[in-house]
Amino acid sequence: MSATSAQRTNLFNLAKPGMEQFFVGLGEKRFRAQQILKWLYHQQVDRFEDMTDVGKSLRVKLDELAELKLPQLIHEQIAADGTMKWVLGLDGGNAIETVYIPEADRGTLCVSSQIGCALNCTFCSTATQGFNRNLTTAEIIGQVWVAAKRIGSVHRDNRLSERRITNVVMMGMGEPLLNFDAVTDAMDLMRDDFGFGLANRRVTLSTAGLVPGIDALSTRCDVSLAVSLHAPTDELRDTLVPLNKKYPIAELLAACQRYQARRPRSTITFEYTLMKGINDHPEHARKLIKLLRKVPSKLNLIPFNPFPGTQYERSTPEAIEAFKRIVMSAGLIATVRRTRGDDIDAACGQLVGQVLDRTRRSREHKAKLEARANAA
Ligand code: SAH
Repeated sequence: MSATSAQRTNLFNLAKPGMEQFFVGLGEKRFRAQQILKWLYHQQVDRFEDMTDVGKSLRVKLDELAELKLPQLIHEQIAADGTMKWVLGLDGGNAIETVYIPEADRGTLCVSSQIGCALNCTFCSTATQGFNRNLTTAEIIGQVWVAAKRIGSVHRDNRLSERRITNVVMMGMGEPLLNFDAVTDAMDLMRDDFGFGLANRRVTLSTAGLVPGIDALSTRCDVSLAVSLHAPTDELRDTLVPLNKKYPIAELLAACQRYQARRPRSTITFEYTLMKGINDHPEHARKLIKLLRKVPSKLNLIPFNPFPGTQYERSTPEAIEAFKRIVMSAGLIATVRRTRGDDIDAACGQLVGQVLDRTRRSREHKAKLEARANAA
């Protein structure tokens, strides 16, 4: 009798050590793990029968005890600027979004870590969707897998030059440090030579500022760290990133310093979304300079991306330039993130997917929108 899907091990859930354990457990040699990883991530094969150098008897065993299950491609959109967005269906009727941003010298994939998000940052549309659950390792690395396959075939069909994923940013839906084990295993597979083989610094984890998570990451995984700061004072940050009430700015920056002490070669990027009249005044820039003096870092200024029902607006181009000029004149390294794919709602903070909300957040948000529409 064959195993049911619930009993089968989805091999996309296993990073190298787990894969080795799995094959040793089957009475196989350890090198099988590398062989299978190469089929999955180098050849992008997702059926045991296509693994031609794996003997028949092992393939039969694998068919019975293991499975190769990936997120399902539901919808693909391509923006005017070449940005691609995929809606991927998961078990239980949920869907997440993954975005590919092609540039002249690189191709960046923006990957989700959770279905929805529980942190409730007031300027992020994912927050309005509520939260359902953490993604599994297979669902996280599966986003890279499906995207890599689609990018290859779209470009072949259109006879465009070959396009690749050179960077992955954990900046899609969710707070990656609240899904620590699955996210770090998936980031291992992104960087493993038998996986997607990306260099450490080309994989970036972005966090809203979960202090214990930053400490845990510093000893677990050598990747680039991005921290969503968005405000130079606790008073203001409390209103934008509610997590700040638990881990205020001083504690967050101390965690960043500990991270740098443990990972001297890594650079931290602070993200700062610029919202008109909220956090874009020259005085905010000057306060930010004082804060960041203590943590050598880069500053990434993100023009706010609007979404239905939001109370915030994007800062004017003049305010963004002025803010950048002030911080740069103090010697900080600052860049303004170019808005990409906003015609298909693929820009930062616009990803929503389909979240079967287990909190009451999405209902409350809908009620608020209706009340606002009725009042208008
Ligand atoms: N939970 C992680 C990943 C989130 S998304 C984190 O908080 O870092 C990546 C970045 O986009 C974060 O810096 C986030 O604060 C920012 N962001 C969210 N909503 C946005 C919006 N509407 N416009 C611009 N940036 C936004």
